[in-house]
Amino acid sequence: RAKDLGKNRYCVFDSAGHRSALDRNSQLEEIERAIAKREFVLHYQPIIDLRTGRLNSVEALVRWMHPERGCLGPGEFLPLIEGHPLTIPLENWILGEALDQHQRWLDAGWDIAVSVNMSGTQLHQRDFVQRLRTALATRPRVDPRRLKLEVLETSALHDIAHVSRTISQCAEFGVSFSLDDFGTGYSSLRYLKQLPARRIKIDQSFVKNMLQDPDDLAILEGVIGMAAAFKRELVAEGVESMAHAKMLIQLGCFLAQGFGIARPMPGERLVEWASGWTLPSSLRGCTALDRE
Ligand code: C2E
Ligand code: MG
Ligand code: MG
Ligand code: MG
Repeated sequence: RAKDLGKNRYCVFDSAGHRSALDRNSQLEEIERAIAKREFVLHYQPIIDLRTGRLNSVEALVRWMHPERGCLGPGEFLPLIEGHPLTIPLENWILGEALDQHQRWLDAGWDIAVSVNMSGTQLHQRDFVQRLRTALATRPRVDPRRLKLEVLETSALHDIAHVSRTISQCAEFGVSFSLDDFGTGYSSLRYLKQLPARRIKIDQSFVKNMLQDPDDLAILEGVIGMAAAFKRELVAEGVESMAHAKMLIQLGCFLAQGFGIARPMPGERLVEWASGWTLPSSLRGCTALDRE
């Protein structure tokens, strides 16, 4: 329901006009209050190297622990603030919390890279790099190379040259970028060419259906080839079963994330999950197929 609200956010001034605008203002105020009251939490989803079974990194995913409506996923509130200045304080909190969690993991003897989603709005801020440096400087135990930032292909990157410079500047102090939901935007190839992101995350829609849909499989094969040609790491999202994982290994895509491996979970549960996780026997010894 709230998702629909999000989709209709450009229609707030039509027929229902005034009332909807007021609703939107009260929603924005509620989100602002929720940031102050610390009602947001991060869950983390593992990204696994299918060759070794080792944990490669985790992706931080925000949730809203709403006092009345329970745990809300990002689809229920991020669309409401997309392009709005409120994304900045929320994402600042998310970045800081992910870095703090990384430090808590370090305290537990666990050094794992964490990936944080960033909106286009954030990346277009002129002081973004400076704020990122400050966030890292105030947490001196965090190795910047353990931080990855994900940028959505579909987030309106109206100033590609600026975002490209931002990515290069971040690379200078070790923070790398991933192109998220690759293949769903209008300009995937342009982004691939112009944005020096180290990693590509192929969108889950292609991965989910690759076992039934030859077109999705063809797209996947194409992206695997492109990632290799551009020397980018490739992650497959939406790995919902070990059959998907096996196919990915055979195609030559080794980093995987999806419900078939693990759902997003609270940070303190992750260490325990990782100590219990092993590569299923169905994947052991599985290798990339030689392809002509
Ligand atoms: P995303 O960055 O592409 O994150 C992956 C989403 O796919 C997550 O949904 C995850 O729970 C879901 N997912 C993972 N594996 C599977 C699977 O095997 N099957 C299915 N059906 N889904 C799977 P979530 O947490 O609802 O997040 C949705 C989107 O919201 C994210 O997509 C990202 O674009 C955005 N988002 C989430 N957290 C943040 C954040 O902290 N900041 C920003 N700017 N955006 C965020
Ligand atoms: Mg992401
Ligand atoms: Mg994605
Ligand atoms: Mg997505």
